Amino acid sequence: MPLYEFSCRKCGHSFEELTTLAEVEKKKPACPACGSRATERGLSGFATGSGSGGSGSAPCGGGGFT
Ligand SMILES: [Zn+2]
Repeated sequence: MPLYEFSCRKCGHSFEELTTLAEVEKKKPACPACGSRATERGLSGFATGSGSGGSGSAPCGGGGFT
């Protein structure tokens, strides 16, 4: 069962819902924060990239003398 990400258009709260695509198409989940059903499905699930981007300050090399 895939995990979908929703964002509430009313209060802006974003949440994740574990549901099927068929269920999503049928009825939108209510926002857990404000209870509104004005929610919008976002992209989630597979490649929510955590670790992209260059924070290239890894100090590799240079060590090795004692
Ligand atoms: Zn809301």
